[in-house]
Amino acid sequence: MNQAKSKPKKDHYDVVIIGAGMSGMAAAIRLAHFGKDVCLLERHNAVGGLNSFYSIGGRKYDVGLHALTNYVPPGVKGTPLVKILRQLRIARDELDLNPQRCSRIAFPGVDLKFSNDFTLLESEILREFPDQADGLQTLLRKIREWDDNQLDYPDVSAREIVGECLSNPDLVEMLFCPLMFYGNAREHDMEFGQYVILFKSLFFEGFARPFDGIRVMLRVVRNKLKESGVERCMKLGVKLIQAEQGRVAALELDNGRVITADKVISCAGWPETLSLCSDVETKENPSNVGRLSFVETINILQRQPREFGLEDTIVFFNDAERFEFARPDELVDVRSGVICIPNNYDYSEGRQLEEGIIRFTAQANFEKWNSLNEEDYVDQKSWWFKALGESACKFLPIDSFDVIQQQTMVTDMFTPKTVKKFTGRLAGAVYGSPIKNKPGKTHLENLYICGTDQGFLGIVGAMLSGITIANLYGLRGD
Ligand SMILES: Cc1cc2nc3c(=O)[nH]c(=O)nc-3n(C[C@H](O)[C@H](O)[C@H](O)COP(=O)(O)OP(=O)(O)OC[C@H]3O[C@@H](n4cnc5c(N)ncnc54)[C@H](O)[C@@H]3O)c2cc1C
Repeated sequence: MNQAKSKPKKDHYDVVIIGAGMSGMAAAIRLAHFGKDVCLLERHNAVGGLNSFYSIGGRKYDVGLHALTNYVPPGVKGTPLVKILRQLRIARDELDLNPQRCSRIAFPGVDLKFSNDFTLLESEILREFPDQADGLQTLLRKIREWDDNQLDYPDVSAREIVGECLSNPDLVEMLFCPLMFYGNAREHDMEFGQYVILFKSLFFEGFARPFDGIRVMLRVVRNKLKESGVERCMKLGVKLIQAEQGRVAALELDNGRVITADKVISCAGWPETLSLCSDVETKENPSNVGRLSFVETINILQRQPREFGLEDTIVFFNDAERFEFARPDELVDVRSGVICIPNNYDYSEGRQLEEGIIRFTAQANFEKWNSLNEEDYVDQKSWWFKALGESACKFLPIDSFDVIQQQTMVTDMFTPKTVKKFTGRLAGAVYGSPIKNKPGKTHLENLYICGTDQGFLGIVGAMLSGITIANLYGLRGD
């Protein structure tokens, strides 16, 4: 965990960054590399935001890392991962990236395997859905032709475009399932631009994991912040953004101190940032708050999962007649979810995680979790822990969840309430607002949004967003 750092040394900075999420930290490093005087303010005691870790009983648990997406092998140029490494001056080896073995999209009676080699998924689709061959090629062409560099791409429905290419609804849903679980802030549908970004980052590129998980990423980024001279203030949030004449005039901090900056970049979320502004009135119920959140359960096992037949790296499963991506009516929707087995990456030099780990993630209802009293909260957690495990295990080659339970030494679980508590994300909305602020501008001319609500999700996406906003507004001016 990070030590609390000294409070801001100065009264004025070139740029203040609100939040030490992956995007805020990337923006800070980029600006400091170009000589900007940067102060990074984080309300929590740890950096990383949604993408962090915690310790219980001496054991460290990752929060936001199943997989680093956008993995490409050394030598490939021009992709998001390569761009962030270059722009933040991070050597690839520092991240200790190990590629996935093989993952799966599992629906009743149909499995589609995929790896970091896209031809595997393509051949699986052709095997299961031979009559979709032409449609698949049309979809792939549309994905490849989409201009990734346009910042303010049009908001068109992915369902409409994918539906024009593929006529088999099962295949459509099977492709939507992982993309939605890994970064869609919208219920039922997604923007085609987001579909393209996620399709490329999951299927054309792929998954990898540092051997020691998210701590590796955070260590590398923290060192870069230090080397580049960013002033990092932990356990110190921004309480109020004082607006005057259409600009940020000053920032009032949680400890009452007031500082100023030429520019302010926030990764706290778009509605969350607006609700800090003195000239915004709807602080109680801001609009454009995301409705999607998750529970995640973790089983720490005494054996390697592969010893009892669990070979997959990640499984995206769905048991419902039609895959549904929306806030559930109940506390959790166990019909679909993600199974992640961190042991099943291809770790270099034959390394193996000491303990087995299996994580199950599913959609959850923030309001319902938030309204429970303490006792019910504990009871419901243990009930849904089991229900989710049982549902997910139907898609694993074991008889039942009992097989995993028998191997389990320790468990943990977090809910949408936990997400809200540790990141400030309203409604525990993991993927932020359904309507994204792609240009990153706000009603105040020197206040910008980066990260999740700018429309770039996941670890690599958030970092790319921080760099983009820093380049556009922090380095090049307005
Ligand atoms: C359970 C889970 C699993 C995930 N799995 C993956 C995965 O496998 N792969 C992947 O690539 N991505 C994954 N993600 C998503 C990824 O973690 C996020 O998309 C990314 O980290 C978002 O970064 P961000 O910078 O946009 O914002 P955030 O991480 O939300 O950071 C915002 C920061 O701002 C701080 N803050 C808020 N308000 C204030 C204030 N007023 N003053 C100061 N600071 C403030 C918060 O404390 C927080 O640190 C997962 C997320 C979750 C929750």
